[in-house]
Amino acid sequence: MPELPEAEVVRRQLHAAVVGATINHIRVGREDMIRQGIESLAWYSGSRVTEAQRHGKSVVLICERGTGKRVVVVELGMTGLLLFAREAIPSAKHVHVMMSLANGPQPALWYWNARRFGRLYLLDRNDWKAYRQRRFGSDPFTMTSDEFVDLIKSCRGRIKAVLLNQRRIAGIGNIYANEALFRAGIHPYARGRRLSKTRIRALFETLQRVLKEAILRGGSSIRSFVAPDGQPGQFQRRHLVYQKTGAPCPAGCGNRIRVLMDERSSFVCPTCQKR
Ligand SMILES: [Zn+2]
Repeated sequence: MPELPEAEVVRRQLHAAVVGATINHIRVGREDMIRQGIESLAWYSGSRVTEAQRHGKSVVLICERGTGKRVVVVELGMTGLLLFAREAIPSAKHVHVMMSLANGPQPALWYWNARRFGRLYLLDRNDWKAYRQRRFGSDPFTMTSDEFVDLIKSCRGRIKAVLLNQRRIAGIGNIYANEALFRAGIHPYARGRRLSKTRIRALFETLQRVLKEAILRGGSSIRSFVAPDGQPGQFQRRHLVYQKTGAPCPAGCGNRIRVLMDERSSFVCPTCQKR
């Protein structure tokens, strides 16, 4: 599913093509795709998109009309996509929300989802503040190495569970947790509080490096992910362990990648990743 890098790829394209545009209107095909704020739909007609933000795995459009300000929060979910309107849409019946635009390079932005996991929120300032506080922990690109050490040291559970906890650190999902832990030589079941500060700092640097490289390569196109312009990401070609069960360890230790079945599959080299 889209994680931080994919959401950031989407945000960057929206920043370039939607910020500055005026929303003519938002048409909603399936109302249950709007989790909150459907009654405010008419407010957005005539508003201007002034900013595109990313919080964790969510993409947020800031909209202003007169002195009023509201946001559109898009949770991409497992299979959700934001797409510039185009003819080669994967399957038009899955376009659930259509935002028609003026005064910009793109005539429309569509929210496409073949499944029901994605959600949109239409929020005013107060509801947006509450949503942010409820949903998102620190961003891996704005927190410091010391803050990351404190976070990991304060958690009793398995380190991978901490990385996946969006309320503690936002944006990392199963792909990037597995890839970062392998590269840092840390077993996903290691207990955070027992790891040395040196290893935790190394993990933090590795995590940032993996996320940055993934953004530069357009994210990972696992399942259906494509950017708003229709381009798939390329970082899946750089995956070392994710969904590589049975493959030789890329570090050349002679062992093979194994999958551990927990809430989310963990892909590990039993030799290279230490607890
Ligand atoms: Zn190995």
